[in-house]
Amino acid sequence: MTEETTPSRSADHPLGATHPLALAPVAAPASTVDGFVREFLRNLNFDRGVALTSSTPNDRYMALAYTVRDYLMARWLEDLRRQRHAQAKGVCYLSAEFLLGRQLDNNLLATGLTDIAADALAQCGVDLDELRQLEVEPGLGNGGLGRLAACFIDSLATLGVPNIGYGIRYEYGIFRQTFVDGQQVEQPDAWLTLGNPWEFPHPESARTISFGGHTETYDDEGVTRTRWVPGWTVRAVPYNYMVPGYQNGRVNTLRLWSAQATSAFDLRIFNSGDYAEAVRARTFAENISKVLYPEDSTPQGKELRLQQQYFFVAASISDFLDGVLPDDFDLAKLPDRVIFQLNDTHPVIGVPELMRVLVDERKMEWDAAWEITRQCFAYTCHTLLPEALEVWSVDLLGRLLPRHLEIIYRINDEFLAEVRERFGDDEMRLRNMSIIAEYPQRSVRMAYLATVAGAKVNGVAELHSQLLRDKVLPDFNEFFPGKFTNVTNGVTPRRFVRLANPDLSALISEALGGTWLTDLERLRELETFAEDPQFRQAFADVKAANKRRLSELLRHRDGFEVSDGHMLDVMVKRLHEYKRQMLKLLHIVSLYEGIVSGRVAASEVTARTFIFGAKAAPGYLMAKRIIHLINAVGSVVNADPRVEGRLKVLFPPNYNVTLAERVVPAADLSEQISLAGKEASGTGNMKFALNGALTIGTDDGANVEIRELVGDDNFFLFGMREPQVQELSDRGYRPSEFYQADENLRRAIDLIASGAFSGGDRSVFEPVVSNLLYEDRFMVLADFTSYLEAQTKVDAAYADQEAWTRKAILNVARCGFFSSDRSMRDYIERIWHTPPLR
Ligand SMILES: *Cc1c(COP(=O)(O)O)cnc(C)c1O
Repeated sequence: MTEETTPSRSADHPLGATHPLALAPVAAPASTVDGFVREFLRNLNFDRGVALTSSTPNDRYMALAYTVRDYLMARWLEDLRRQRHAQAKGVCYLSAEFLLGRQLDNNLLATGLTDIAADALAQCGVDLDELRQLEVEPGLGNGGLGRLAACFIDSLATLGVPNIGYGIRYEYGIFRQTFVDGQQVEQPDAWLTLGNPWEFPHPESARTISFGGHTETYDDEGVTRTRWVPGWTVRAVPYNYMVPGYQNGRVNTLRLWSAQATSAFDLRIFNSGDYAEAVRARTFAENISKVLYPEDSTPQGKELRLQQQYFFVAASISDFLDGVLPDDFDLAKLPDRVIFQLNDTHPVIGVPELMRVLVDERKMEWDAAWEITRQCFAYTCHTLLPEALEVWSVDLLGRLLPRHLEIIYRINDEFLAEVRERFGDDEMRLRNMSIIAEYPQRSVRMAYLATVAGAKVNGVAELHSQLLRDKVLPDFNEFFPGKFTNVTNGVTPRRFVRLANPDLSALISEALGGTWLTDLERLRELETFAEDPQFRQAFADVKAANKRRLSELLRHRDGFEVSDGHMLDVMVKRLHEYKRQMLKLLHIVSLYEGIVSGRVAASEVTARTFIFGAKAAPGYLMAKRIIHLINAVGSVVNADPRVEGRLKVLFPPNYNVTLAERVVPAADLSEQISLAGKEASGTGNMKFALNGALTIGTDDGANVEIRELVGDDNFFLFGMREPQVQELSDRGYRPSEFYQADENLRRAIDLIASGAFSGGDRSVFEPVVSNLLYEDRFMVLADFTSYLEAQTKVDAAYADQEAWTRKAILNVARCGFFSSDRSMRDYIERIWHTPPLR
């Protein structure tokens, strides 16, 4: 079979219509313990080819996964049938990243099988908990953006909205982080090595994706058309994943693409005579889906990255048009049938791709095609950092995708003509709004292309959306009134409350009954329970138990000893200077310096265990130095008897979703301390608040909305607001002035500079110190004094445990808004117009 074969669609096949068994819904296995035992053993014997007595733990994990999968299968097939039949409008969520986290537990929860599975396995002498630990999480994302995509598809399935998530099946996900002498060392994430029971490859539905070559015009019965003559092609093979709704019988699909060499490469094997060279050429094609780029927020303009983007977007659009839509579908009606949501700029090349398909392949008029395209895309912007706004040099884009560059030029020409019509020959405005930047090199601004093409453009928190309109894209906001909107991010309460915090969930269910997990605003009803001493005690007991569970995990995982009775002060997120892990660290160093210098009695310092979790992009040297410094401070502080029992710094390596699920429920204090105006939203902040941690945070991203909801008394605000940041920056920021003005700050920085954390060698952290004193782009020093004051308030509040617990309960009660179910409803209402399918 060649890659050109049209994928068959079994529902349309005559066989499907004639055989009665093919029409009957597939029966799910019986939901009983005995039924589960039978299915588990059957899978062990027939799919793994082993007997229980001779099985390895991985065999048992795989057989368990197959069993759970079988329960979902009937619903999945039914949902596919339902969606095919209804032909209702659905969402194609295009995202280069899906940071899914482990699947087993989520799928057990979705099917309501957790207890049955545990009992059934116990009857076989197998421990469910042990098997859980064997799953390697699919780390197909860097951080917040990829995790958001995973939360969204969970919520869409739970709401019953037709959705296909489209992305890339990276063979290696985000690297596994280890520390060697306190410094980050990256290990490959070979997550597929032991097999992946959750995916279904469909090589027969592969798409052919083209690259390179040139374009030419030809006469098509009197009409001049363009065609793309590509230089090379690869096969995109889809792997389907089930995305189950929460106990609602619904299952959507996540389709991830894997790159394979086409037969064109095979031919070379036979023809070239150079077998080894030909096989290497195959590797060239397959490299496209080999590895996730580990840069978060600062994309490198790498050719392979553009190849990845076009590869998955072209495959997805082709899949939807040729595989999902019926053969006789009238493409003029495409906007009634689908919305392609662009998760950041990574999939924006889909805009010229759809134009190419409509104009070149389906032979539509340009204007008609543009009318359709403009309605079929919507764009989510995720950043405010200028260095995170993706651009592709015209050279590179033209070489890799010559036809797409032509289309982008034409889109831009027509757009600028409209701008000129409205505003006249305002050269500066035209340059500012052009999709093509001329300086420092001629390149395509992908965010502008997305904004021009998108039916809607949304930011991810109120403040972010406002800054997007007023500062990043003000000309576009003026030109396209009503195009910009906000949808504040959310997180799925299934994973981040129910699975991560089973004891809290049980407590909530006891208080409110069972439906809160799909109606998270119901948490409001907990407000009255905050006044009930018995409930407070139960809530505090849950937090204490979660801390013990975390201690246990860290002891086994990393050999850490977590001290009893400490406040758990947690900062977990990607390492980035704008997130300001340095500010947290200066606080710690300042506390330490205060005690060891004798200025502060150890007994007066609130006992805290600080937990960091953070990966740095491998090429981001300053971020790596900061990781090194955190570890160095930890080694010194943890070994110093003068602060024993008071301060402890733990940095478990390899922060990922699995670790987040254990750290978040145990935290007392959530550190959300980015420089105001830099964190678009954050979602970690939401996870913590929903699990009863109090936030110390700046007026940034969704912190703003968290504080509005939980109330000033239940949130520790500090630092400059965005307008003040702007003002200071306009005035000329000189960090050394702040260093001079605050003795605590001076002493903390001096201690680092002295080599106290590097065996006396002052050179090791010299770049970090210099950067703070002379540049400090994210104004750590300017916010230090305010931060320490807020931390003093935290100490005072923590001293009254009853009052603290009350605040924690109110945080939970008032953060139901941050369910990703609500985010999805907002997208549906403001952007997608895709009601649930009944
Ligand atoms: C939620 C999450 C993030 C995002 O955290 P922020 O604090 O919003 O940056 C990153 N990584 C993982 C593993 C997460 O679960």
